[in-house]
Amino acid sequence: MSPAYLKLMRYDVVVVGAGAIGNNVAYLLAKKGFKVAVIERKERIGYPLKCAGLVSERVLELANAKETVQNELYGAFIHSPNGNTLDIESETVKAFAIDREKLDNVLAKRAMDCNADYFLKTEFVGIDRKNDFLEIKTKGEQKVFHCKLIIGADGARSKVRKILDLPPPSEILACVGAEVEGVSLDPRKVHIFLGKDIAPGFFAWIIPTSIDGSKARIGLCLKIPPPKPLKTYFDFLFAHPVSGKMLKGCKITNFIRGLIPIGLLERSTADNAMIVGDASSQVKPLTGGGLYFGLLSSRHCSAVASLALEREDFSDSFLARYHKMWRRDLQREISIGLKIRKKFLKMSDEDIDRYLSHLNDEKILSVIEKHGDIDYPSKLIFPIIRHLPKLLPDVLSLLF
Ligand SMILES: Cc1cc2nc3c(=O)[nH]c(=O)nc-3n(C[C@H](O)[C@H](O)[C@H](O)COP(=O)(O)OP(=O)(O)OC[C@H]3O[C@@H](n4cnc5c(N)ncnc54)[C@H](O)[C@@H]3O)c2cc1C
Repeated sequence: MSPAYLKLMRYDVVVVGAGAIGNNVAYLLAKKGFKVAVIERKERIGYPLKCAGLVSERVLELANAKETVQNELYGAFIHSPNGNTLDIESETVKAFAIDREKLDNVLAKRAMDCNADYFLKTEFVGIDRKNDFLEIKTKGEQKVFHCKLIIGADGARSKVRKILDLPPPSEILACVGAEVEGVSLDPRKVHIFLGKDIAPGFFAWIIPTSIDGSKARIGLCLKIPPPKPLKTYFDFLFAHPVSGKMLKGCKITNFIRGLIPIGLLERSTADNAMIVGDASSQVKPLTGGGLYFGLLSSRHCSAVASLALEREDFSDSFLARYHKMWRRDLQREISIGLKIRKKFLKMSDEDIDRYLSHLNDEKILSVIEKHGDIDYPSKLIFPIIRHLPKLLPDVLSLLF
């Protein structure tokens, strides 16, 4: 017999994780009239912060959330390990700094307005398969959910993915950062720092988040396990000859910590189950950005989920349509990104200096300004080669 305190609830779909992607899937399904529960282990949606909040216009359109924009960005300073700087500036807006906590809440509110039920401080711990439904178990077992379909949107270390025995990402990066105020930055440009002293295996960033340049989000990502403790790298941002000067005297107002999954999953569905967003490693391997790929995939996920609910077909073979749909959209970009990343991981600081010095040429910079796209960095490869044919052998060795 069930204990007296146990609360049993029946839903069409249980979404695990109230991040941006889980909230969007919940909204799209609830809008169609399906009974949706979202379970989230944290007590506050979007907090603590684990995102730098740098996105393209596509994200604002997919999320329909222009109200989250804090600042418009027109370019970047890329700082190479030897101290040289590539200055890229476009006449048009290339990216936006957004309030990520607000984005998650805007999307959650939209789902709630369509009658999705939210259960905060509710941690998913397991699934029991019954004859024609799933029993979703939560920590402490005060709440049990019965549903036909579970959607894991529970981030890089997805428990849903693990329990379903779906493949993990090939790599998970550790990130640390902060929101700061009291800086004096060019508000139109992001700073990217490369090199093994500052962010071995990835990069560090300073993103101006206010139009007067007085606020920023700073941070870096590293391969796990990092050569030194994460905090050592975070502290170095304040001691580095370039970033240190920019951050001198600033005040930290909020800390950022998180993980980034990297890889191309071969499966993202099982019987009665789908995974989406970071849980499904729908992330750009070169920048770690996951909001665009995740939001795009959330549309495919909810479209296939709603068809499955209408037809009462929750077999893996039916749900795998979703896998094919997101792979069709993202496979090329993720695969090229992974190949470039593999090469990047083998580069010394001197190699990085050499590549960046090739790019520091007026013609090449204008190509980057024209074709640069934070969602599809691979679009730059061929225009750059046209102007810099000596890179062709490197590119061919990357792609084939
Ligand atoms: C430091 C950092 C900077 C980043 N910067 C950018 C950027 O500038 N631009 C960009 O596009 N992307 C960026 N990303 C990536 C982006 O944040 C992710 O791709 C995005 O958050 C994915 O959203 P999601 O909803 O899939 O997962 P998440 O946002 O991770 O949400 C998952 C949710 O599931 C919950 N959860 C986990 N396990 C359970 C459980 N067992 N039970 C219940 N709930 C659970 C978590 O608490 C969380 O709320 C960054 C990531 C990091 C770490």
